[in-house]
Order: sequence, then structure tokens, then C-alpha cells
Amino acid sequence: MSNYSDDKGYTKTDQSFLKNYNITKVLNILRQYERLSRIELSAVSSLDKKTITNITKRLLEDKQIEVVEYRYEGMGRPKAMLGLRGDYCKCIGLDLGGKYISGVIIDFTGAVVCSHNVDIFSRIEPEMLIKISYNIIDNLLKKAKISMEEVNGIGISIPGFIDKETGMAILSENIPLWSTVPLEKIFSEKYNKPVYIDNNSRLMAVAELWYGKGRDQKDFLSFDLGLGIGCGIVINHNVYEGGSGKSGEVGHTIVEVDGPLCTCGRHGCIESLASGWALDMQVQEAIKKGVPTLLTEMKSGEGSSATKADIRLAAELGDEFSIKLLERAGEYIGIGVANAIDLFNPTLVIINGTLVADNEVLMNAIRKTVEEQTMPQIYSDVKIVESEIGVLASAIGAATLCLEKSTKTE
Ligand SMILES: [Zn+2]
Repeated sequence: MSNYSDDKGYTKTDQSFLKNYNITKVLNILRQYERLSRIELSAVSSLDKKTITNITKRLLEDKQIEVVEYRYEGMGRPKAMLGLRGDYCKCIGLDLGGKYISGVIIDFTGAVVCSHNVDIFSRIEPEMLIKISYNIIDNLLKKAKISMEEVNGIGISIPGFIDKETGMAILSENIPLWSTVPLEKIFSEKYNKPVYIDNNSRLMAVAELWYGKGRDQKDFLSFDLGLGIGCGIVINHNVYEGGSGKSGEVGHTIVEVDGPLCTCGRHGCIESLASGWALDMQVQEAIKKGVPTLLTEMKSGEGSSATKADIRLAAELGDEFSIKLLERAGEYIGIGVANAIDLFNPTLVIINGTLVADNEVLMNAIRKTVEEQTMPQIYSDVKIVESEIGVLASAIGAATLCLEKSTKTE
């Protein structure tokens, strides 16, 4: 999954690759700038005018782009302003989060046509999760007022790995009942559409690379802080997959040798100390021990757990336990972020995820720790920002997998 790049990561002898590369580059520029004249396209893309004329002719014939308006400037001929045709393709993206399923439909411009979200219980049976996903897709189609025939394909974001051998099996630690589920087969047989699957943290990085703050960045890291903790690594405008597609497991780097047991079977991973599920366990334990906290009153009923929103609100109301809990979590996460910055020397770090959304106490603790724990010479080169895309990023990234495959370059 790559966005356009000005760095020449290709050999010029490979003509068809170069042609596809240039077409993708023009499409992505139009996705970013919305409407440009051919002259402007040539300037932004650094492609000569003849190449731009050929590419735009071809894209107009394919109905991937259209003349959006004619711009009159001075005495000369009006300039045709070109833009993407949103209805050229529609792609569905599903994000199977541990505690929610989100869905979006995006059009060819990358704009979100509609979205739908359902909260779920994390120990949900696979059959039920699939049923809910089907229901989300039905709702998305209704909201967008389109039928499945008009959809090009489905992208699915999962909190786990894809088995490259079978192309189907997944291993998801945060959805324990899903050891191996042939998701691709299930969805492609149901809808008779192409289905693409990837890891949620990497897809979050895809969304940042295509539409977010990572758009103009060559190298950046995007952190996904939610039920689990993951990282999307972008190197030279490409999301780095790793040798077998399992890159970015920053949540399973160990920060306390004798720390608590993690879902991966080891002890003291960042996830075992600071993820959504770890905080949940720490709250339950504290309440059992009778530690004074507002959370005791905020839990909605016996046995139910405090939500991230409860902890955030309690901290804002001055609850000492909740403030300490979030500050400690921010420290562990901050160490993970600092270690990753030291390893990759990115110019930008984007923070996102349900754990950190609107959570100032946690975000401040992360920022403070990153500043303290990153090598000063490397820290001075990096900017740390929060995502503008927000919690739908992984679903949008999943839909973008499909959008990329739907783009006709041949
Ligand atoms: Zn672990």
C-alpha cells in the first residue's frame, strides 16, 4: 500500500510500472487538491505537460476523472479544472475492533459517504460478529442509497495477523474466540465481491498516508491506542509490512521484565500495563480491594467494568486513582513511542485510537514521557500530533485497500 512518492523507487526501464506509477500519482494529487488544471497538475506532479495530457486524456476516457468547471482567467482560453469522479467507485471498509465494529463507505475521492458503528462484547462468538458485520453493511448500503452491485469491494481491518500461507486465517489476541476464521472466504462468498484484509494499526497508517497528517510525510509512525496497542510504520511513503506481515507490534514490546501476564503469553508487555483491557483489569482489581475511587459509583451495575470514558471523566473530576492510572499508562505508552522514535527517526508521530480520544490526561502523560525518554538529538526532529481522522481511521484504511485495487491503471 503506497501513496505517490517523489523518490525514485523504480527503474526507468520498467515502462509499464512507470506509467502506472504516474497515473496513481496524478490520481492521488487530485485526491489531495480536489481540482487542478493540467498546468497545475504538471507543476505539482513534476511530470511534463505531454505526460499530463496523455494521462488525463486516458483518465477522462475511463471516467475516473471529469472536468469539474472551466476557470476564466484574464483574456486567455478558459482552463478546464479536473477532479476525480466520486462515483467511479464505492468501497466498503469494516473495522473489527475488539469492542466495536465500525463500517464506512468511501467514494473514489476518498470521502466518507456514510458510516455505521456498533458496540460489541469482546468475547463475542465469530458467527455473531459476522452477523453484526452483515447488518452493518446493510445499514451502510441503506444510508448511501446504493445496492451491493454498485460496490467495488470490501476491505476488512482486523486486530491481528493474516496468515500469508492460507490467505484466510487470522489470529487475534483481543478477540479470544477467533483463533482461525476464514474471513476472506466468508465475506467474498456472501457478497461475491473482492475482499481485502489487513491489520488495524497498519490500516490506520494507510488512512493517515492517503488523507491525514501523514499525507506529505516521507517517514512517519502512527500509533493506534485502543483495546490493544499497535503501530503503523511508514517508510518512504510506504506502509512497512515486515517479513511476514506482522510489523508494528509495539504493544508487545516488554517494558517490565516481571510485569503482568499479557495476551501473547509473555509478561510485562506495554499492552499488559497500559492498553484498554489492562486498564479495565486494574480498575476491577482496585475496586475489589476497596481503593477509594469515583469509578465505584460510575460503574453501571454490579460486575460491569468501567469504560474508558468513565476513567477519563473521573480523572477530569479530580479522582486521584483515575488520574494516577492514566498517568502511569501514559508513561508506559510513552516509553513505547520513545523507543520506536529512537529506532525509526520519523519526522512525525500521529497518535490515534479510542483510548486516547479526548483524553487530555493520558495524552499529556504520553507527550511528557516521549520528551523525557527519546534521545534528545532525535526528539528535536520529530513532531507529535493527534490524528484528525479519528476513530474511523482503520475502517477508512480498509476501504482504501479496496479503492487502491479498484483504480484502473492498466
Ligand atoms: Zn504481549
